[in-house]
Amino acid sequence: STRISDSLSRVAPSATMAVTQAARDLRAAGVDVIGLGAGEPDFDTPDHIKAAAIKAIKDGETNYTNVDGIMPLKEAICAKFKRDNHLDYTPEQISVAPGGKPIIYNAFVATLNTDDEVIVPAPCWVSYPEMVRLAGGTPVTVPCDASSRFKLTPAQLSEAITPKTKWVILNSPSNPTGSCYTADELTALGDVLRAHPHVMVLTDDMYEHLVYDDFEFATIAQVCPTLIHRTLTMNGVSKAYAMTGWRIGYAGGPEWLIKAMAKVMSQSTSNPCSISQWAAVAALNGSHDFLGPWKDAYVKRRNFVVTALNAMPGLSCQTPEGAFYVYPDCAGMIGKTTPEGAVLETDIDVATALLNEAHVAVVPGTAFHSAPNLRLSYATDLETLKTACARIKDFAESLI
Ligand code: PLP
Repeated sequence: STRISDSLSRVAPSATMAVTQAARDLRAAGVDVIGLGAGEPDFDTPDHIKAAAIKAIKDGETNYTNVDGIMPLKEAICAKFKRDNHLDYTPEQISVAPGGKPIIYNAFVATLNTDDEVIVPAPCWVSYPEMVRLAGGTPVTVPCDASSRFKLTPAQLSEAITPKTKWVILNSPSNPTGSCYTADELTALGDVLRAHPHVMVLTDDMYEHLVYDDFEFATIAQVCPTLIHRTLTMNGVSKAYAMTGWRIGYAGGPEWLIKAMAKVMSQSTSNPCSISQWAAVAALNGSHDFLGPWKDAYVKRRNFVVTALNAMPGLSCQTPEGAFYVYPDCAGMIGKTTPEGAVLETDIDVATALLNEAHVAVVPGTAFHSAPNLRLSYATDLETLKTACARIKDFAESLI
């Protein structure tokens, strides 16, 4: 309709949600669909976090709060940054919002002018380019190669920077690839950025705690301390604490930016849910012992899925260091035909046929601005993953 704004018309709907919806529709029609599309843990929020929320309700913590977060939460976040990342942020340098997504959106709304460019290494999380557009800026996606494990190289960064570049986004561990930047890789990117003082860095560390096999997580403000004044270090409780529905994300950054983001919130969302904020205090300050068993489960699932996919014709899959996704290349399926006669010309065709014929929901790489790939979430139990992989294998072997 012409009543839709120009800025919204430039935005694509969330492709991951489209797949989830298609799977839901098939399921509603009585089909036994296995969903490997969604990006959320299958674990339940730990009990001590739930208890803190119940206590907050009973204590009457049910009013409006400070727009960008209560002081006890900002203090817990400062302590977290110090403890995990050796970063010294003060509460004035902390923003809390209703999820990690609004943190990023607020930062863009607060800073982007028409024609300002944001460098988005691809494959990228679906929302980055669209949020840039929604905020009036121009996303510049930079295709990153499987040979660099889908990571931005210093040469690519250097080449992508223009006088109009306002931000570069880094996401490690990555959604959709699970790849992680090492401290050395971040240092090398930081060396490039040092020569371009007009460029700010938005680092999305949402999956920080989900790294495996002794991989050491690092974030750019930690390894390049001189960049801290132009870095927004974003994180949240959604993934590590299985709290996607609670809607709490946060960031540390320069005070001018944090203030500007609070101004955006003050005229849009207002504060994040008061009860969820108290739950997040308990999450950050409390025991993290639950994480060990969760990570053990994720590693087992990842290893199973990677091995299974690599044994199938037409798919090849790297072993990612983090998050809970694998991102196989499906080039070997392109050009083939399914038993029901669908011709697979793109990874969207592959994902559609997998859903319709094998009843497994995955997201095509095209949604993440790279192709031909598939993103499978392994945040589901091993039995389900075994059934899903058996179905995908039958599908892969049936292509002609
Ligand atoms: N950043 C990345 C890389 C994500 O994968 C997600 C969730 O899918 C988010 C941010 C958003 O997190 P939240 O649910 O807290 O808004």
